[in-house]
Amino acid sequence: MTNPRIADGCGHDGPSLPLATVLARLAEVIEPISGQQRLALRSALGHILAEPITAPAPVPAHDNSAMDGYALRHADLEAGPLKLVGSAFAGHPYSGEIGPGECVRIMTGGVVPAGADTVAMQEHAEAKDTTITITRPPSAGDNIRRAGEDLQAGDVVLPAGRRLTAADLGVIASMGVAEVSVMRALRVAFFSTGDELRSLGETLGPGEIYDSNRYTLFGMLTRLGVDLIDMGVVRDDETALQHALDQAAANADVILTSGGVSVGEADFMGKLLQMHGEAHFWSIAMKPGRPLTFGRYGKAWYFGLPGNPVSVMATFTQVVTPALRQLAGELHQPPARFRLPCRSALRKKPGRQEFQRARLVQQADGSLAVESVGRQGSGILRSMSEADCFIVLPADCGNVAEGDWVDVEPFGAPLV
Ligand code: AMP
Ligand code: MG
Repeated sequence: MTNPRIADGCGHDGPSLPLATVLARLAEVIEPISGQQRLALRSALGHILAEPITAPAPVPAHDNSAMDGYALRHADLEAGPLKLVGSAFAGHPYSGEIGPGECVRIMTGGVVPAGADTVAMQEHAEAKDTTITITRPPSAGDNIRRAGEDLQAGDVVLPAGRRLTAADLGVIASMGVAEVSVMRALRVAFFSTGDELRSLGETLGPGEIYDSNRYTLFGMLTRLGVDLIDMGVVRDDETALQHALDQAAANADVILTSGGVSVGEADFMGKLLQMHGEAHFWSIAMKPGRPLTFGRYGKAWYFGLPGNPVSVMATFTQVVTPALRQLAGELHQPPARFRLPCRSALRKKPGRQEFQRARLVQQADGSLAVESVGRQGSGILRSMSEADCFIVLPADCGNVAEGDWVDVEPFGAPLV
């Protein structure tokens, strides 16, 4: 297979590109990986369906009662009390057919017996031995869950590309399906670049800092369900970097690095990519996180993130996440955004789209609002930790006054 050429029109030091343009370009060139596996249902949680799931039979399979009460023929109700002829409990159906003037004791989930068309709630009935008086008559058809009302046979219940949730596991189990075909996990190799970086457990020398990007990337990649290859810290040295890239490309679908993409730095990564693959140097009109290198190294896709810890997280969530999801075979899921009143005044210069760190707050009247976590510098990683959402400010917007409405994008993964 030949690698698709990456649509371009923007080379070295080109003008800043809107985030939307970058996302559209990535969506155009990226093709999902191939390879599937069969997994037992429980193991498939969080994996991406490789094939759609179709209901083999209706769920529920039979009309059944939504209440504890009496199954009866609605037309008999005017004629007076009914005669109790048997019972239909969940898992123990009544085998006969209900005749005129008869009824059957039925429990929630019990199959509605042949002949019955309505269930009266037990709270609306009085029983004396086998004589049942309905004190408050139901309407015809009341309190019955219809066969197929959840799923009809032949329904495409879940499409290929769906990332399976807890609710999905239940829906699939309700159809009696024990195994599903999912995409194999995407393999992502990542390392940090920079002579100033030390790994945890090492002692810091003068001017050195701990490598935090590998930890935020570890966390975000783990949440995406990819297979990780953590390659540690690599020095700003061409031979060492080439060796790391060779090793990453031999083992992974995607290579992710942080640091070393700023203009002015000895840009070995760009040079190595151009020699062994393809490189695009994008300046994205977003804050934090302007520079991004995208391309290929050997057969692997490459994303070179900026070094700043907050920029890494912002670029990862906005650019790399949708690309990795597409590579992994997941259906496109634009991030959830909604508008809320902002309880903080925000400083913003027109020009770039901004992702300001913020948190959701419940106001005294119960309604939701958002407030800034404070300092927004791209070196202040704590602001990400204190936040639970981004306030997304459009490129052309300026300062925001307290009480203005803003777009909010929550962090975090769904539980259901
Ligand atoms: P760079 O893009 O390499 O010029 O890095 C920009 C800033 O981010 C510098 O202050 C670096 O020290 C810092 N930085 C780069 N990589 C990391 C990392 N892995 N962990 C923490 N800070 C980093
Ligand atoms: Mg660096």
